[in-house]
Amino acid sequence: MIAELICVGTELLMGQVTNTNAQYISEQLAPTGIDMYHQLVVGDNPTRLTEAVRTAFLRSDIVIFSGGLGPTDDDLTKETVAAALGLTLELYEEEWEKILAFFASRNRKTAPNNKKQAMFPRPCIILPNPNGTAPGCIMEQNGKAAILLPGPPRELIPMFRDYAMPYLMKRSGHRLYSRELRIFGRGESDVTYALDDLIKQQTNPTIAPYAKTGEVTLRITAQCQTDAEGESLVQPMIETIKARLGDVVYSDCGEPLPLVCHNALIARGETLAAAESCTGGLLSSAFVDLPGSSAYFIEGDVTYANDAKMRRLGVSAETLDRFTAVSEQCAREMAEGLRKRAGTDYALSTTGVAGPDGGTQESPVGTVYVALASKDGTIVQRLQLGGDRTRIREVAVLHILDILRRKLCTK
Ligand code: ATP
Repeated sequence: MIAELICVGTELLMGQVTNTNAQYISEQLAPTGIDMYHQLVVGDNPTRLTEAVRTAFLRSDIVIFSGGLGPTDDDLTKETVAAALGLTLELYEEEWEKILAFFASRNRKTAPNNKKQAMFPRPCIILPNPNGTAPGCIMEQNGKAAILLPGPPRELIPMFRDYAMPYLMKRSGHRLYSRELRIFGRGESDVTYALDDLIKQQTNPTIAPYAKTGEVTLRITAQCQTDAEGESLVQPMIETIKARLGDVVYSDCGEPLPLVCHNALIARGETLAAAESCTGGLLSSAFVDLPGSSAYFIEGDVTYANDAKMRRLGVSAETLDRFTAVSEQCAREMAEGLRKRAGTDYALSTTGVAGPDGGTQESPVGTVYVALASKDGTIVQRLQLGGDRTRIREVAVLHILDILRRKLCTK
């Protein structure tokens, strides 16, 4: 089966928006056995879009569209595609009711042109959009299909994943089964180098590496008839990869680092507190974001100023004078001081220079000390992180979470 992608939007042609939808959809289709031979970006222009639609249907079974489903006059994907396929649009009352309800729930008024978002050919498969007003749709004609998705990635991704993908898999007669390995402590190129032969030989299952801030994920995907068959194809590959990469693989079922720590703390019935300087609450938030964290998370202290580190955590004036706040000694005293005061099993701390200013020769921007205090003593690590202020703070949190994960999961 051959698919083609048409991304609609003048802003994409002008370089104002990066075409992440194309990357996402291509990545999703890669392991499905559906071939994508062409991709096109076209501006908000009905003549050029009509031409693109006609050409696409001459050579492809499925044409996927992103963008141009909004209420304004330059949002013309649905109208143009329907016309090119010889279909006319009708008002779907039940879709119009949903749009009215969406606006009412946000205390906003609908404009008359919102009605065009409830117009579709009949018959047609409507794709719900829980994250916006424009539903997507699938128009079928002469054995071919046009799949229309909204432009904003936060609307397109869930719609593609939950509705378009099952449709594509059903049509192609394939089924996919995936598991995700998450890796902290080795970069993407290092991981792909270590797995080079496996990646090159891959047929079924496939291995898709993906770099996220500070970490790497590997999606292992099998084409199969049943989930049990999928698991039997994926599991041996997961074992091979884990044996090669070792304990940098912290999850083989897609769980992020905070969740791995969260589950381990609950299973062990132990408690935790966090003293943060440069991460300013990010670390505490990583736990508090997870429902059920009250079972173990006792407190988070943002102690940014030296005075707060002394007053609230008992860091000594001498340490701050002699070694400064960005030092192994300070990180150690922060974690130990908080553990003593909060009475927890573990206490974590972070202190560093997130930049862009404040670097010194001994502690340039990106220097962060992280510590974990427990009954077995205190582990302190000096990090030298790259990137901007946001990245430095986010990656510092991942490092201390990884130290905690190793402590919790290997004892
Ligand atoms: P809306 O109802 O929000 O108008 P729409 O389906 O009409 O949705 P567009 O107007 O084409 O979508 O695009 C809305 C926004 O979505 C763009 O300004 C851009 O930020 C984002 N967007 C559109 N296409 C892409 C794309 N291919 N990749 C990434 N982002 C995109």
